[in-house]
Amino acid sequence: MKQLVILGSTGSIGTQALDVVRKHGFGVTGLSAHSNVQQMERQVREFHPHAVCMVREDAAKDLRQRIADTGTQVLSGEEGLCELVRLEQADMVLNSVIGMVGLRPTLAALEAKKQLALANKETLVAGGKLVMETARKNGVKILPVDSEHSAIFQSLGGHNPINRVNKIILTASGGPFFGYTSEQLRQVKKEDALKHPNWDMGAKITIDSASMMNKGLELIEAVWLFGVRPEQIEIVVHRESVVHSLIEYEDYSVIGQLGVPDMKIPIQYALTYPERTSCPVGRLSLTEYGKLTFYSPDEQTFPLIRTCREAIKRGGLFPCAANGANEEAVRLFLQDKIGFTDIFTLVDEAMRKQKQVEEYTLEEILEADKAAREYVRTHAAKKF
Ligand code: NDP
Ligand code: MG
Repeated sequence: MKQLVILGSTGSIGTQALDVVRKHGFGVTGLSAHSNVQQMERQVREFHPHAVCMVREDAAKDLRQRIADTGTQVLSGEEGLCELVRLEQADMVLNSVIGMVGLRPTLAALEAKKQLALANKETLVAGGKLVMETARKNGVKILPVDSEHSAIFQSLGGHNPINRVNKIILTASGGPFFGYTSEQLRQVKKEDALKHPNWDMGAKITIDSASMMNKGLELIEAVWLFGVRPEQIEIVVHRESVVHSLIEYEDYSVIGQLGVPDMKIPIQYALTYPERTSCPVGRLSLTEYGKLTFYSPDEQTFPLIRTCREAIKRGGLFPCAANGANEEAVRLFLQDKIGFTDIFTLVDEAMRKQKQVEEYTLEEILEADKAAREYVRTHAAKKF
């Protein structure tokens, strides 16, 4: 039985992964959360993991008391996440924490030669070169969980004929503000931004979808995962989120993956790869949809797509700066400290402040991330 470690098991991806685990009976060796002690206690009692990690120390202390009657060890802090992925019993790690905190555990999992299912896209955006090199050195294949990247991976048919590919067509739902003008966007509130038309996700990625930063991050993620150039990626707005992404081959044959918008499909494919088996989701009825629509994205109104494309073209730590600035700006927006479109300006400016470097270490990634966040905090306070 495959033994899993699920990082971020109390989140949107984490809980859906546990639905897949319930259906297929994988073993659960490790789980992690930030501070949600109640839910972690329930998960420990249901899945009997060898160890769990609560990133916050006080939460770890609380959990230790609550589950003292079980045999589960409770780790804490970021180091605890790394210890968890190195567990000898673990065959595979699903990294579904939110944000840059996922970087160290991603590297630790690769170094320990664990199979890695990756939902935590910020990790690839910030440290793509280092992550891919570490994967290559250790002979580990990274299995994408993000629905678009899973669709691309599936459309590649398991092998990697990327040199036979003209382009990747990356689909985007367009989020709740599709069709809005810049003026209308300036007025939106977090309650509006938190309502996604098709997907039920954590707060941060829901805001990223509304700002279309999510698609910019995914463009960078695709460059690293599939070894294509940024110019080979076309973003197409597809409101129904049924066509999850496509590939145009050299002969202009276009192959895509379709399905209902339910993350359990790509999560399960990563966990069972290369096998396919029935999944606890609804079936796609094309006739119920009747028609599917496709549009060019409005990059004038949603400029973060351009910011991200420029960041990955410049290379080095520009994507890391864009990602760090975005994490900070989204945090401030969720605290009602800045307006929605301020996210656009702050992320673009912080990205441009980054210095050009070719090679980088983990420490340099963390420094660039910190500087971008700092830029956003100071300029948000000054400007608004
Ligand atoms: P959620 O916010 O729903 O869950 C985040 C998880 O990470 C929770 O378990 C949370 O614990 C934990 N966490 C939060 N902050 C920290 C921290 N500082 N240190 C360690 N753990 C932390 O996020 P999602 O599940 O929506 O997203 C997870 C990742 O998957 C993101 O990178 C996202 O971009 C990606 N993704 C998500 C999709 C989705 O449909 N949700 C689709 C495609 C990609 P706690 O509950 O204790 O706060
Ligand atoms: Mg996605």
